[in-house]
Amino acid sequence: MSRERRCTFAHVDLPALQSNYRAVAEFLAAQTGVEGGGKKVPGIISVVKANAYGHGAPAVARALQDAGAKVLACADIEEAIVLRNAGVTAEILVFGALSVSDVAGVFDYSLTPTISTPGAGRSLQAAAAARGFRLRCHLKIDTGMNRLGLRFDNLERTIPEIVASKNIEVDAVYTHFATADDPELPLFHEQRERFERVLAQLPRLGVNPKLRHAANSAATLRDSRVWYDLVRPGLMIYGVVPPPLASTIPLKPVMSLRSRVVAVKGVRPGETVGYGALWTADRPSRVAVVPAGYADGLDRRMAGTCPVLIRGRRARIVGAVSMDMITVDVTDMHVEPGDEVVMIGVQGDERIDVREISSAIATNPYEVLCRIGTRIERIY
Ligand SMILES: *Cc1c(COP(=O)(O)O)cnc(C)c1O
Repeated sequence: MSRERRCTFAHVDLPALQSNYRAVAEFLAAQTGVEGGGKKVPGIISVVKANAYGHGAPAVARALQDAGAKVLACADIEEAIVLRNAGVTAEILVFGALSVSDVAGVFDYSLTPTISTPGAGRSLQAAAAARGFRLRCHLKIDTGMNRLGLRFDNLERTIPEIVASKNIEVDAVYTHFATADDPELPLFHEQRERFERVLAQLPRLGVNPKLRHAANSAATLRDSRVWYDLVRPGLMIYGVVPPPLASTIPLKPVMSLRSRVVAVKGVRPGETVGYGALWTADRPSRVAVVPAGYADGLDRRMAGTCPVLIRGRRARIVGAVSMDMITVDVTDMHVEPGDEVVMIGVQGDERIDVREISSAIATNPYEVLCRIGTRIERIY
């Protein structure tokens, strides 16, 4: 079947993804060997929520599975079903609060749900009992994020009902850090200490989980004390270190975003370009038109702040980011229609990475990746 392909597309480098997965596994093994004194090497829960951070969850999940990933994690049941329908057989942990009305998917698709509220425990117990099934769950403890999870300081009240739920087996206990990427804030350590106290308290309340986990990418990089039995990297697997942290793990960016120049336009001094007349040429100028805009996930704040790569050089986005187009100042360059444009990725000796874009527009790399639009074809 032949069809037209838009010239703006995202390239997703699955070998790079697999290499990142292995690099994280090797890092954990090496560090556990060095400082762990014979401690068990933690396993990895690969986080593929939000369509695998915009990379395309089915292909990413299958590639991770082929690289040896044993457990994947999604935000909700619906995301997990997409993976099962794509042939993913690895264990899938569902992080989110379960929509209380419909937990059937947990059973029909063999998912591992999280109990993060007493209500979720009740609906899972009822649904498991109705099926005569003993359901393995992870229990989420809120140690300071104050979002989902049973409060760390109220477990005497909330745990007994879960322990009494005959059809529920608590396989693992976990928490989630609010500030793992900010070494300045004390909350990370407070959360770790609260989680430690909870782990010590749980056996007295009748919970003896086989597994404990806590660390997202930033916490994995920062503190081996929170590795426990499993770590839960997301961003790192996609080759991006959460800012402002640095890492020696050899990670490779997985996503690149590319397009082509569709027109080059001469602009006279004093003339403006684009909606809102935001940019005025101060000399005879040439502007390249690139068919990618905010409908493709480019942020309007990229205008004037972010470069793109053309002919191996950086060129500035000028004028407004439109829905379907950007305009780039190429006055000092020899640029022609058809030339490749790189918005994220490498061209020649130059690179624009997701961290550079997110810092230029004052957001985080997660948002830049997740917003890459549904109109953009992912090519693997
Ligand atoms: C998203 C998420 C992660 C992964 O976070 P990264 O910063 O991408 O590594 C881990 N755990 C939970 C509960 C999450 O929601």
